Amino acid sequence: MGHETRLLIGGESTFGQGAEIEVENPATEEIVATVGSASGEQLDAAVRAATAAKASWAGMPAVDRAPLLHEIATALRAKTDELALLMTTEIGRPLTESADEVEWCAACFDYYAEVARSEIGRVIPPIEASQFSVVVKEPHGVVGCIVPWNFPLLLLTWKVAPALAAGNTVVAKPSELTPLSTLAIADVFSNLPAGTVNLVAGAGETGAAIADHPGIDCIAFTGSVATGRNVGIAAASRNARVNLEMGGKDPFIVCDDIGTEGVEIAARGGAWAAYLNAGQVCTSSERFYVMEDVFDQYVAAFVEHTDSLVIGDPLEAATDLGPMVSAAQRGKALAQVEDAVAGGAELLAGGGRAGFEKGHYLEPCVLTGVHFDADLLREETFGPVAPIVPVKDLDEAIAFANGLDFGLGANIYTRDLKRAIRCVKEVRAGSVWINDPLTDNDAGPFGGFKNSGIGRELGTEGLDAFREAKHAHIDTEIEIKEWWYPYG
Ligand code: NAD
Repeated sequence: MGHETRLLIGGESTFGQGAEIEVENPATEEIVATVGSASGEQLDAAVRAATAAKASWAGMPAVDRAPLLHEIATALRAKTDELALLMTTEIGRPLTESADEVEWCAACFDYYAEVARSEIGRVIPPIEASQFSVVVKEPHGVVGCIVPWNFPLLLLTWKVAPALAAGNTVVAKPSELTPLSTLAIADVFSNLPAGTVNLVAGAGETGAAIADHPGIDCIAFTGSVATGRNVGIAAASRNARVNLEMGGKDPFIVCDDIGTEGVEIAARGGAWAAYLNAGQVCTSSERFYVMEDVFDQYVAAFVEHTDSLVIGDPLEAATDLGPMVSAAQRGKALAQVEDAVAGGAELLAGGGRAGFEKGHYLEPCVLTGVHFDADLLREETFGPVAPIVPVKDLDEAIAFANGLDFGLGANIYTRDLKRAIRCVKEVRAGSVWINDPLTDNDAGPFGGFKNSGIGRELGTEGLDAFREAKHAHIDTEIEIKEWWYPYG
């Protein structure tokens, strides 16, 4: 299959002149394409193109932008098979999950096309009878989007769709692990004025150059805590607007009030929440706190379900888990498992290569007896690993849940309304899912507390991330105000 390896700069397809990136298929370890990064001059050209396009795009009424954004959604849906195959080729996850991602992107463009039509501010009560006061929300200008590899098109869309809907223009960079799917969507933006969306490729230096670029007014970043901190520092050094979506270590609490059938369901839901995309989801459930009365049943059901999952070629329809994205990611997750086992934990399932000689396969792991201080219970794992810990009550579970400097998501299984509401109120995380692990809803905000992020994507909050508020005080009278000089 020939891959699109050209960048999109100012409406033109052009090969990157910077360092070459080799794109690996994690299932076969073959290099499937080579992509040229944007050179410094090309990044400048992309920013210039976005700058040149910003006034007319910002000036277009939202009602006129809306059909263009719907066209993008339609064009994405029409490319579902191609894009799903590309994402599976770059990431290694099952084709079904990749196809779902394309639909989520399309739905997000449709959502913001309409949401941005409903308001650009508000009218507020004036402080003088002769005044009329309005808050006007304006686009920032050029938005630089920097995204990771685990949901390359979705995390790009969560930035590009609201940024465009709010009237910004965009320079976007995918991860160096997954440039192909992003470069392949250049044509869906061909209905927009040239320069409105620019797509560049590159690794960390290109990301840093975007964060530092004086022509970029707002940086929207998703990735690790360490990189996000650097992006935040770069933004602060020139007071650029910034939105940071970073890592997590999501807890999954199972209460003892859900009955035998509920425990079995929570085990399956927990396994899905831990293993989806081979555990490489920012909101993967990475630590399970299960009340003592149902602990044994829960662990047994979790292990049984884990053992039943099909690990294999991500292009096969029956495959539940493909390989991890890279040798480095696999090595990092496995090292945490091995460290936990060395510290006394018991590995009840997984840890092997599922019989594959090639490919970054890691059989999903279930562990108990992990020491409280082990990295596996404290640091992001980003792999298909489920450490399960008994807790005596909800107090202890919430204390564990809140005990780290992460706060992205949290799951709770309970039928007790009091417990559910208590978790909603007390768990410090941007998403709290009660009996519904890991779902997204375009209409609701997504983001993190603490080290997991600053700002929100999705919902009206995600539109506001790309708008600056201006307060206009309009007085219909020209008169001398009594609070002016002289005071005496
Ligand atoms: P990463 O931080 O290594 O890279 C993310 C992006 O930043 C890539 O495009 C990379 O090229 C770029 N980059 C690297 N160094 C940079 C620098 N100095 N300045 C600017 N950009 C730079 O993360 P990753 O390994 O690609 O992704 C995995 C991480 O992303 C995990 O920690 C995961 O939790 C997080 N994540 C968070 C969310 C969320 O919404 N909160 C969603 C998905 C993934």
